[in-house]
Amino acid sequence: MTPDLRNLPSIDKLLKRPQPQAWITAHGRLLTLDALRLVLDDVRKVVLAGGALPEVDSILEQAETKLKNWVAPTLMGVINASGVIVHTNLGRAPLSATALAAAQSVATGYSNLEYDLDKGQRGSRLTHAAALLTRLTGAEDALVVNNNAAAVLLALTALASRRRVLIARSQLVEIGGGFRIPDVMKQSGAKLVEIGATNRVHLRDYQHAIDAQPIKLVMRAHRSNFAIIGFTTEPALAEIVGVARSAQIPVLDDLGSGTLIDTAQFGLLHEPTIQESLTAGADLVCFSGDKLLGGPQAGIIAGRGDLVAKLKKHPLARAVRADKLALAALSATLLHYLKDEAESEIPVWRMISASQPELQARAQGWAAHLGRGAVIPGESTVGGGSLPGESLPTSLLALNHPHPDKLMQKLRALPIPIIGRIQDGKAVFDPRTVLPEQEKILLQALQANL
Ligand SMILES: *Cc1c(COP(=O)(O)O)cnc(C)c1O
Repeated sequence: MTPDLRNLPSIDKLLKRPQPQAWITAHGRLLTLDALRLVLDDVRKVVLAGGALPEVDSILEQAETKLKNWVAPTLMGVINASGVIVHTNLGRAPLSATALAAAQSVATGYSNLEYDLDKGQRGSRLTHAAALLTRLTGAEDALVVNNNAAAVLLALTALASRRRVLIARSQLVEIGGGFRIPDVMKQSGAKLVEIGATNRVHLRDYQHAIDAQPIKLVMRAHRSNFAIIGFTTEPALAEIVGVARSAQIPVLDDLGSGTLIDTAQFGLLHEPTIQESLTAGADLVCFSGDKLLGGPQAGIIAGRGDLVAKLKKHPLARAVRADKLALAALSATLLHYLKDEAESEIPVWRMISASQPELQARAQGWAAHLGRGAVIPGESTVGGGSLPGESLPTSLLALNHPHPDKLMQKLRALPIPIIGRIQDGKAVFDPRTVLPEQEKILLQALQANL
């Protein structure tokens, strides 16, 4: 044994030090022992290879780094100062306080998830949120599943497996994350019948396809994340419904984002609403819970009672069902719409409807607090696969920094990471997407890192 290895402290000796004692209290004995053991193993190897024996403090420091890495969460809250409201990479819609409270109350205790309190016997989870959805949309019935991709898959599988489904070529969209309408159709076993050209589809294309072969379902998919401009045409949904209905073929409308509120009142393009689609005669509509609806991850299918019943009965419905937290948060979110308080209570709509003076005042307040930076005009976007190319005017806090990319990296490494943007060589922060309760943390972090 080399003399250095004889001086290697034992685990027992290290454990008597105050730091490992504190780690045991914070993270438990097993993890603490593991960290010390691994570091001692490493040190032993280094010394055997001729390296010097490190100080005890250095050994403890290495163990602490290991421990911290092990217990650090990989999924955590961040501050979104990017100005992208429904940011798919940042978890889409933040929940309202009421929606969070509803999820919390069913999460931390028991609930009547599948229990009929009236009869004192087994109930169905499908009843939750359904009444609110039918009331809000005018649909006969509604079903909530895991997400909208699952909603499309379930609808196609239950209604058109091994049968032909008609869809316009211009609607064979890829949403992102590898979700492509044609792939989902294939997965469901439905046979895809594409009609029209990439830029144009006519009503007669629908009619000809229906006349030529047996069609089980006509599908329309919203072009959520791109726009076709120029020489384009597409029949209105009501016209497609007219043709399909005379052949007794149901129409499924995948709205993607799905909004109950008209986006045009905020100076944005009009995003098709759920109510419009049902009024135009779609037999089923499906949409996401966490895009413009502003709720939890969910897929919602609403429409004709007999079709929804078919979906509910299909075995796949069980595999893609919504969990209780989502059902609770979704119901609370829907209630905001019924109470006509969406714009004040649902974060996504609060952000969309934020006024110019309000945003400017917030950005100016930030600059004043920091004693630096300028307030410049900028653009926020809705994101989340809705309103492509559309933006909302905003006021940005712009900070000069010799290396804005390094500043961004530093801000992303904070315990509560901050996501900003770089614009014209400046680090910019959009107040529109920063929740008011996060402002203090944001300003403290900026102050400390500038
Ligand atoms: C976003 C989107 C989907 C997928 O919805 P998820 O809730 O993310 O599963 C499907 N179709 C369209 C048109 C979309 O925009």
